[in-house]
Amino acid sequence: MELSYILQEKYNVTIKTATNEQIYYALAFLINQKTKNTKSKPTKKKLYYLSAEFLIGRLLGSALVNLGLYESVAKELCENGKDIADIEELENEPSLCNGGLGRLAACFMDSAAALKLNAEGVGLLYHFGLFRQVFENNAQTAKPDKWLSDKSFLAKTDTTYPVEIGGKMLMARQYQIDVIGDSNYKNKLTLFDLESIDEKIVADGIEFDKQDISQNLTLFLYPDDSDENGRLLRVYQQYFMTSAAAQYIIDDCVKRGCKLSDLHEYAVVQINDTHPTMIIPELIRLLCEKGTDLDDAINTVSKTCAYTNHTILAEALEKWHISMIKKAAPKLLPYIEILDSRVRRKCCDEKTFIIDSNDMVHMANIDLHVCFAVNGVAKLHTELLKTTELSEFSKLYPHKFHNKTNGISFRRWLCLSNPRLAKLIESLVGSSYLENAESLKVLLKYINDEKVLSQLVSIKQENKQKLSQYLFKKQGIHLPEAFLFDIQIKRLHEYKRQQLNALSVISMYLDILSGKIPKTPVCVIFGGKAAPAYTIAQDIIHLILCLSQLVNGDEAVSRYLRVVMVENYNVSWAQKLIPACDISQQISLASKEASGTGNMKLMLSGAITIGTLDGANVEIAELVGRENIYIFGDDSETVVNRYKDKSYQPQKYYDENKKLRDAVNFITSEKMLAIGDRNRLRRLKNELLTKDWFMTFPDFDEYMKTREKAYADYFEGQSWSQKMLVNIANAGYFSSDRTIKEYNADVWKLN
Ligand SMILES: *Cc1c(COP(=O)(O)O)cnc(C)c1O
Repeated sequence: MELSYILQEKYNVTIKTATNEQIYYALAFLINQKTKNTKSKPTKKKLYYLSAEFLIGRLLGSALVNLGLYESVAKELCENGKDIADIEELENEPSLCNGGLGRLAACFMDSAAALKLNAEGVGLLYHFGLFRQVFENNAQTAKPDKWLSDKSFLAKTDTTYPVEIGGKMLMARQYQIDVIGDSNYKNKLTLFDLESIDEKIVADGIEFDKQDISQNLTLFLYPDDSDENGRLLRVYQQYFMTSAAAQYIIDDCVKRGCKLSDLHEYAVVQINDTHPTMIIPELIRLLCEKGTDLDDAINTVSKTCAYTNHTILAEALEKWHISMIKKAAPKLLPYIEILDSRVRRKCCDEKTFIIDSNDMVHMANIDLHVCFAVNGVAKLHTELLKTTELSEFSKLYPHKFHNKTNGISFRRWLCLSNPRLAKLIESLVGSSYLENAESLKVLLKYINDEKVLSQLVSIKQENKQKLSQYLFKKQGIHLPEAFLFDIQIKRLHEYKRQQLNALSVISMYLDILSGKIPKTPVCVIFGGKAAPAYTIAQDIIHLILCLSQLVNGDEAVSRYLRVVMVENYNVSWAQKLIPACDISQQISLASKEASGTGNMKLMLSGAITIGTLDGANVEIAELVGRENIYIFGDDSETVVNRYKDKSYQPQKYYDENKKLRDAVNFITSEKMLAIGDRNRLRRLKNELLTKDWFMTFPDFDEYMKTREKAYADYFEGQSWSQKMLVNIANAGYFSSDRTIKEYNADVWKLN
């Protein structure tokens, strides 16, 4: 085949004699050959998807999948004694993101290319990403995640844009990554880098001079914003990204024949969360600079931009002090002030003002007033936006609000990461499920088919074995694959409640010590990074790592329970963990998780969810029915009211519930203090007892019981594999192809 030909030509070797490196380069060359003459569809209107993050994952494997080559290449390699997984491991995962929001952007780009929509992602090229998580002394430390290398699928272009920023004129250089639809179609992901970036200014760890913007702007995603300089740097980054993007979009449209007054006919800009909001005043500013009058400019930009909200956590809705914007982008500020004064003329509710009485600029409010469409990312989330957090806006602009429930790319999260399951599905429903994911429902007719059910189980078992081997190779930890794999993987955040999971693990541990032996031995697996400045999240990681040491090191306990936290959770880890998962932990405090997409990936791989009625869990529950998901905990209404009336007192639950009290007390027990950091453990216990802002205590009891019930059902067997089948069969709705089709029909209207 072509691969052996390339190896022969390039290196004078056969597949057998080639090194993995040579095979990597040969495959990259092959991909390049196959796609170099393909293009995106030259429709008049084009989508620019603006996002501070794109969590694209490794690209070699997904390119091969999308080109339809993966299976044959893997087979050929295997026949010659090579493992495609080893070759994929040579690629550093692009470190362009933090979590779900950026992964969503990546799934969307994949789907838009699969559906042959003229779409381009636009963001920043971070040299060191968020950070690389390393565990030392049972705690997280942060190192630069240096991912760029000659193996990166990244092309430098000749295009640069000047950005006037912080009193300097800096250059933004455009880089591009191919987003492959199939062998006939590709789109692009544009990433802007600071031309004068200097990686050498990063000292030990992730420290660097935050004020040195002519050298630091694209070093890290979300630099620590716990101090003034850090916050200012974020504003600089955002302006750098949006100014380059705005210039590029106008250029790109003009090249395609656009007159400035019909920009909205050539471009639709989807603003992914508030980070790219400055594109709005920047586009208005540029149009005015080019001679458009102010009213027309605002009107045109209004018709061009749409906004996606990703959170109702008030603290996550960005606001910047006027003085910061003035410092970063003095020419931009007048346009923000103009937008604010128009709002003030039009409406009276102070909550909707763009600039508040403390001179803070509310970025989301710019989006909400100017954009022609605003969406939440799951049914419950959109409802909550309309009725609580953004109710003033939904009264002002009822026509703008709509829901687009998130989705995931089946090509990455099924075909690439769980190929054996993909193959089984294909043999049962045909390959058309990739064009029409809803046809997975056909699987339901096998609900009583012993053979299919046992195949599902044996695929899961094989995936668990693979994960186990990989984990041993990576972290020297052995997991018995006969255990149930119970997994919580996502960013570390109090609202996601890893602490609730940890408390419940402590309780299981104490039960085992007291002689209550569980029927089902369990591996509880965690993965996730905590923001370096987020102390309590770091403390929770510390608790989990200490528990891991304690539990796994106790021979009597480890026969029934293991606790593991994978280091540096990212897409590559996710692709190995998800296919191996039996139970998917989705236990955020109801009303706090906008949607989640991890829940969808896990469901698609046949994991059964334990979750609260939050985010897209609500829709999963509707689809699979209550017999096929484990729901527990207070609902969003109860939670919203409890916040409102400020009635919550964790101490009360602690006093009344012995199991909970024992678990909480254990955090600072002799055993824990012997291996852990006194300060961290005490602080965490104190936080839970006195604040517990995300209300873990009220849900603890039901969580324990539900978990026990799920474990018992797993042990029971048959009905479990039926639950797996029902979950997979109903996952079709969560294909990002469906989400993208909805966006296109309702918002983008690309032809
Ligand atoms: C899917 C994904 C997420 C999002 O997970 P949630 O559970 O939805 O928060 C975060 N990180 C990675 C690496 C992912 O693949």
